[in-house]
Amino acid sequence: MKFRDAYGSGKFGLSFEIFPPKMPAGEGALLEAIEALMAFRPSFVTCTYGAGGSTREKTLELTVAIRERFGVSTAAHLTCVGSSYEALRAWLAVAASQRIENIVALRGDPPRGESRFIPADGGPAHATELVAFIRREFPQFGVGVAGYPETHQEAVSPEADLAHLKRKVEAGADAVITQLFYDNRDFFAFRRRYEQAGIRVPLVPGILAIINFAQVQRITTLCGAKLPPALVAQLEDRRDDAEAELKIGVAHAIRQCRELLDAGVPGLHFYVLNKATAPARILEALDLPARAAGRV
Ligand SMILES: Cc1cc2nc3c(=O)[nH]c(=O)nc-3n(C[C@H](O)[C@H](O)[C@H](O)COP(=O)(O)OP(=O)(O)OC[C@H]3O[C@@H](n4cnc5c(N)ncnc54)[C@H](O)[C@@H]3O)c2cc1C
Repeated sequence: MKFRDAYGSGKFGLSFEIFPPKMPAGEGALLEAIEALMAFRPSFVTCTYGAGGSTREKTLELTVAIRERFGVSTAAHLTCVGSSYEALRAWLAVAASQRIENIVALRGDPPRGESRFIPADGGPAHATELVAFIRREFPQFGVGVAGYPETHQEAVSPEADLAHLKRKVEAGADAVITQLFYDNRDFFAFRRRYEQAGIRVPLVPGILAIINFAQVQRITTLCGAKLPPALVAQLEDRRDDAEAELKIGVAHAIRQCRELLDAGVPGLHFYVLNKATAPARILEALDLPARAAGRV
C-alpha cells in the first residue's frame, strides 16, 4: 500500500516506526514486537535510516524482511546525510528493485557535535530537494515527509518552517508525519496553520508513549519537543518506578490519541522504539477496529 492509499476514503492509516537494532540479538526481539503489533492490522511499518547514514543497507534489508515475513506494507526512511545524488540514486535503485513501496524522505540531523547541516558534495541540502529528486527519477514510490507541530529547531520562525513544509509537499509528498509531541494543543494549532497555508495532504500525528522518563527527557531535549509540566510532575513523583512510569506514559498517550481521533486525524504513527508493550496497551484501549474498517 502506498501512502496515498493509506489515508482517506474511509481508511484510517495506522503505522509503526521501528529502527534497525545495533546488535543481531535485538533483531529477534524486534520481530517479536512487530508480530505482537500485527494484531492491530497496521497499514504499514516504517524503518528508520540511522543517524549519519549509519544503517544504509540495514534499513533496506529490514524493510524487505518485515514485508516478506508479515505481509505488511512498508516504508524505508532515507536521509540526505553524507550522500550525493549519485549515492542516493544507487540506494533508491536497490529499493526499487526490491519493490519497496514507500520512502520517508528526510534531510537528517547534523552529525553529533555539529550545529549546522552541511550537505555532502553534490548532495541535497534540504528534504524538499530529496523529494523532488525521488519524484523525478523514481515516481513509483509513495513519499512521506516530516512536519513539526512545535516548529523544527533550526527554523528561523514557525512561518518559515511552514513555508518550507509547503514547498516540500509541493515537491511531491503524499503525506506528512509529525514529530512526536505531548500537548495536543500544539498539534491542533499546527494543523490550523497547515490548512490555512493550503497544504492538502494528510497530516498524521506521531506518538511516542513514555515508557521511561529519563529516556524521553533525552529524546525530547534532542528533538525540541515540550513535556507538559503536569505530566513531568506526575513522572517525577514516581521516578525509578518503571511500571508506574509506563502506566503514566500509556495513560497520557491514550488520552492524546482519543482526543486526536475525535478531532478526525487521518491516521496515527507510533514511534514504537522496537517494543510492543506501550503501543499495544494504547491500541487495546482505543476503538480502532471500527474506525479502521477500510484498512487492509
Ligand atoms: C516522522 C519522522 C521520521 C524521521 N526519521 C528519521 C530517520 O529515519 N533518520 C534520521 O536520521 N532522522 C529522522 N528524523 C529526524 C529528521 O531527520 C530531523 O528532524 C532533521 O533535523 C530534519 O529533517 P527534515 O526532513 O524535516 O528536514 P527539512 O525539511 O529539510 O527541514 C530542515 C530545516 O531546514 C529548514 N528548511 C527547509 N527547506 C529550506 C530552504 N529551502 N531554505 C532554508 N531552510 C529550509 C526547515 O524549516 C527546517 O528548519 C525523522 C523525523 C520525523 C518527524
